[in-house]
Amino acid sequence: MSGAAYDVIVVGAGIVGAACADEFARGGRRVALIGADIVGSGATAAGMGHIVVMDDSDAQFALTRYSQQLWQALRPELSDDVEYEQCGTIWVAADGEEMIEVLRKREYYGKRGVPTEVLDAKALHRLEPNLRLGMAGGLLVPEDGVLYPPCAALFLARRAQARGAKLLLGTTVAQIGKGRVRLTDGSEISAEFIVNAAGASAVDLTPGLEIKKRKGHLVITDRYPGFVRHQLVELGYLKSAHSVSGDSVAFNVQPRRTGQILIGSSRQYGAEYKEVDNSMLVRMLQRAQEYMPGLSQMSAVRTWTGFRAATPDKLPLIGPTLADPRLYLATGHEGLGITTSLATGRLVADLITGRAPAIPAEPYLPGRKVEDAHHG
Ligand SMILES: Cc1cc2nc3c(=O)[nH]c(=O)nc-3n(C[C@H](O)[C@H](O)[C@H](O)COP(=O)(O)OP(=O)(O)OC[C@H]3O[C@@H](n4cnc5c(N)ncnc54)[C@H](O)[C@@H]3O)c2cc1C
Repeated sequence: MSGAAYDVIVVGAGIVGAACADEFARGGRRVALIGADIVGSGATAAGMGHIVVMDDSDAQFALTRYSQQLWQALRPELSDDVEYEQCGTIWVAADGEEMIEVLRKREYYGKRGVPTEVLDAKALHRLEPNLRLGMAGGLLVPEDGVLYPPCAALFLARRAQARGAKLLLGTTVAQIGKGRVRLTDGSEISAEFIVNAAGASAVDLTPGLEIKKRKGHLVITDRYPGFVRHQLVELGYLKSAHSVSGDSVAFNVQPRRTGQILIGSSRQYGAEYKEVDNSMLVRMLQRAQEYMPGLSQMSAVRTWTGFRAATPDKLPLIGPTLADPRLYLATGHEGLGITTSLATGRLVADLITGRAPAIPAEPYLPGRKVEDAHHG
């Protein structure tokens, strides 16, 4: 591209930055991936790793489905420690009203080529016998999966490195823009393009971004192989994820390859301290036990929190900033950044290299008109 030290510098070595760096390295670009810490230490280490197709909006569907297909294509190459399992999601309907949502979801997915299976109460009980009796049914989405996010990020970063990318870890960036990255030690590195992939901290480097931190809690249990077989999510999860303001919890559990059960999830704005909030934890675990009473007998081995980078319209920011066309954003993925990391890397590279993207990039461009529909 130019006489700059790099064609592209990606700031932030979470799963999104690693996917971007890998994509540029694949295309033969001179790329550096800079991270303040080790690879995948931010929200990536805190995330659940559910690779899920979602349908809050057509744009969200397009990005999640595209990225899920990229994960499926990558699956044979993934290292064992990434623990990719295509366990499927079951959206659990507690009552008749939620069964109506099951049918709506089936139609939406079916029209767009995503296989699903409607489960009545009996079929649900057969697949997940530890759910409380009396559930109305559910929707099985068999192509959804789970993985272990920090190892997935490391896999992508190492592959980028093997393809020629430079990894600068333990390196904190103080300022970016106009083709220059200034580090906290005062030194500068030049690049034709810079990608701000600093997750919830992206706003520190690009002031004015409409990103809010949305705190989440998770709990992992000891090993109970076979107790949970699919990623189980209550349909009320959608109400939680959409809640305009206030704190919310939803039943969301995941079987890990180790036999452990990952229990989520909570959402909070305005709680920017990283410590576990016991009252949220109790609410979250109570919700989980309402759906799976047997969880109350299990030992938890660890609890932690993380921060989702939330935008007003619940879509990530992917593409050039209006103020500086050489500065790109790859952030704002809220609770879907593990799923959508690969598609994000692909879109950023498409936009910079002028390649036609596989899905329209417009809904994610930072310059889009944002309707503040849901967030308080
Ligand atoms: C509780 C919880 C559950 C979740 N569950 C899921 C799920 O099941 N599925 C899913 O798809 N997503 C999930 N997510 C969301 C997902 O974890 C995030 O969207 C994703 O990890 C974002 O990745 P990232 O690379 O953008 O950000 P991060 O992982 O936060 O990475 C940003 C990196 O930038 C670095 N950085 C920041 N500032 C600087 C600087 N100045 N200089 C250098 N480096 C810097 C940080 O060190 C960090 O490593 C969940 C999130 C949470 C909190």
